[in-house]
Amino acid sequence: MAKQFVIGLDIGTTSVKVVMFDLKGHVKAESETAYPLYYPYPVWVEQKPAEIMEAAISTIRNVMDQSRIKKEQLLGIGLSSAMHSLICVDRKGNPLSNSITWADGRSNEQAENLKASTKGTEIYLKTGTPIHPMSPLPKLIWMKENNYDAYQNANRFLSIKEFLIYKLFGRAVVDYSVASATGMFDLRTLDWDEEALKLAGISKDQLSTPVPPTEIISGLPEPVASEMGIAADTPFVMAGSDGPLANLGIGAIEPGEVAITIGTSGAIRQFASQPETDTLQQTFCYAFSENLSILGGPINNGGIVLKWVKDLFHEKDVPFEMLSEMAESVPAGSGGLLFHPYLNGERAPIWNADARGNFFGVNATHKKEHFIRAAMEGVIFSIYQVGEALERLAGPASKIYASGGFARSHVWLQILADIFNQEVQVPISHQSSAWGAAWTALFATGNVDSLEDIKESIPMKETIKPNSDNHERYAELYNIYKGVGESLSNYFTAVADFQKKNSN
Ligand code: ADP
Repeated sequence: MAKQFVIGLDIGTTSVKVVMFDLKGHVKAESETAYPLYYPYPVWVEQKPAEIMEAAISTIRNVMDQSRIKKEQLLGIGLSSAMHSLICVDRKGNPLSNSITWADGRSNEQAENLKASTKGTEIYLKTGTPIHPMSPLPKLIWMKENNYDAYQNANRFLSIKEFLIYKLFGRAVVDYSVASATGMFDLRTLDWDEEALKLAGISKDQLSTPVPPTEIISGLPEPVASEMGIAADTPFVMAGSDGPLANLGIGAIEPGEVAITIGTSGAIRQFASQPETDTLQQTFCYAFSENLSILGGPINNGGIVLKWVKDLFHEKDVPFEMLSEMAESVPAGSGGLLFHPYLNGERAPIWNADARGNFFGVNATHKKEHFIRAAMEGVIFSIYQVGEALERLAGPASKIYASGGFARSHVWLQILADIFNQEVQVPISHQSSAWGAAWTALFATGNVDSLEDIKESIPMKETIKPNSDNHERYAELYNIYKGVGESLSNYFTAVADFQKKNSN
């Protein structure tokens, strides 16, 4: 029989990635199409749903063409998407608003008010979604309070993945993990939470039906199938959001197996067999399937920090590789130079939109190289601090898997291994969410026996071992990092307000 393949489609914040894998997880073909973010007003961050739809269709086509496989060799397409997007649509699924992304801050005030209330705490404990402007609940409250036209005329509210499915297949369904990140989904009943819906001012029939990750969607109209270059009866599988699928795709499935992804932003996550919400509200917990939840915390300031340093220190564009070399030329701990990476406010673990970054401990011996290394170390200290919150809920990490753009840098991976004092496993393909989605499609269509079996099919690139001398040095510095962060937090709002008032 001819060799068979599967596709993972990952709808990210900046681009759609389509990856075709063979059944052992080797990449056969991949393609990526970027789309713009729009900023119609300060702090609004939107996308055009039609542009994302077009990108998804043409990128599937590119991958099919590139792979040269026959349509019948494609077993299915698993769907992954970024969390928290929100689109108001009419009866036919036509957008009345743009897709409002997780990065949109218009509902900051609504989120703050809700967070400060007892109801806010109750809703977090039921839904596992931190009360924050990233998620649809505060956005809907904002729409209600501001008589937003698109909200008042909306027949339905959809995330970007639901939008694609509604338009292509006419079905209003949402997988548990995307639903779970709305702030309106009860983790334990796996259904919409009436109290949250009441706050949002919407009814259950305006939301999609929650379905497990293995839900199969079929019946693609022939013209779209031919545009994509696939057979019309190709099964599409709901799968989930990019977070849990990245854990699956990297093999971090068992308790204690932690996945750390650092792309533009970053996250640390681990699966648990039952929901665990956090009385301190430092972490999230989202449902994935009937018996798996994903715990973790997102950081705003991941790879974007290195990009900032790069732009800051170099007039001409230099490759990231050169920054890694410069960082490697100074010792672990950057000669006592510390960096809090809060360039864009911060989510986990401090959840403070007013947080601002700082270099601390600067002395006359510090050179550009120290600043670069300190920036890289600061990002990992920040992830480590979220890891401490996660450890409180789920126990210590027994294994760490790393993915995302930062994993291209050996020195950055070594810093990770040294700060956590753990071995770090790195897969060959950094498209872990796409592989997780593709594997879910294989499982849903009966081509593999279990989700956990994916562990046998993740080609690994390398294992980084921790250096104990470096670890000791980092342990000492981390205490200072934490103490300085706490002391400065009293001034975050004052400096953020100053910056807002004096931005010109
Ligand atoms: P996204 O989250 O947008 O998908 P990526 O996963 O591609 O982004 O990560 C982009 C980030 O990865 C960059 O901002 C940079 O910090 C980091 N990065 C990419 N390539 C390298 C490299 N060769 N060395 C060090 N860092 C890198």
